[in-house]
Amino acid sequence: TEEALNHAQRLESVGQLTGGIAHDFNNLLTIIQGNLQVLEELPQLAADGYAQQLVAAAARASRRGAELTGKLLAFSRRQMLQPDAVDVRQMLHSLTDMLRRTLDQRIQIEIDAADPCPAVRADPGQLESALLNIAINARDAMPEGGRLHFRAEACDALPATVRQELSGADAGRRFVALSIADSGTGMTDAVLEHIFEPFFTTKEAGRGTGLGLSTVYGFVKQSRGAIAIDSKVDAGTTVTLYLPQIEDDTASASALADEDLADTE
Ligand code: ADP
Repeated sequence: TEEALNHAQRLESVGQLTGGIAHDFNNLLTIIQGNLQVLEELPQLAADGYAQQLVAAAARASRRGAELTGKLLAFSRRQMLQPDAVDVRQMLHSLTDMLRRTLDQRIQIEIDAADPCPAVRADPGQLESALLNIAINARDAMPEGGRLHFRAEACDALPATVRQELSGADAGRRFVALSIADSGTGMTDAVLEHIFEPFFTTKEAGRGTGLGLSTVYGFVKQSRGAIAIDSKVDAGTTVTLYLPQIEDDTASASALADEDLADTE
């Protein structure tokens, strides 16, 4: 639809703009951090506790700045995907193992992945960070704990709204549906309307950048898939990614790879 196209174009230009700024800013931060390091090691500084404190505070702030520019760069780096065959089932298992070790124990993590589940064609690193982004949003929506449910299965029929989002040829391909459901706060329609916009966040300053879902959106679009979000206030949210299955014959798979290369130019 036209709206989706406008959105993708806006995202593209914001991505380029952000990438440029983040890159230059990162260079400046490198200079600042380099100078701070020299300062920290000066013998004169060791004698002055107050000056030491000031330098340490500046070093902390520039580290935070470097983290933020790192996120901005990740957001704009969508252009450089390296698609490969991904075993979604295996990826979900290693991701949930990691989440079980790190998330609040009150969050119960479940996984239902078809066995076997068809391989999808996506950049494995980017897919993993997309899933992590979605899982972290789910965690933030369940401060008192709850249920985090991952599912993966071949998708026989795309929902109509999703089919409309995909361009003609892509809608005819086969997909795997990968969903992450939480039992958290859910979202109002007013929030839902903006979630894919870069920098839109309802989280307090310092906690959210508002780049999570816009990055996921860009990644999914570039992988020629689609994303759908279902949410109900006080009930929870389900995010579903539709990713293209690897075609059986290698000829069409490499034709796809060529098309993608053309896309990024
Ligand atoms: P951030 O997490 O930095 O705020 P995102 O783009 O990932 O940025 O998310 C944007 C906003 O969407 C969040 O601030 C939150 O309001 C809302 N949101 C995203 N995922 C969920 C979820 N699972 N449950 C409730 N709200 C969500």
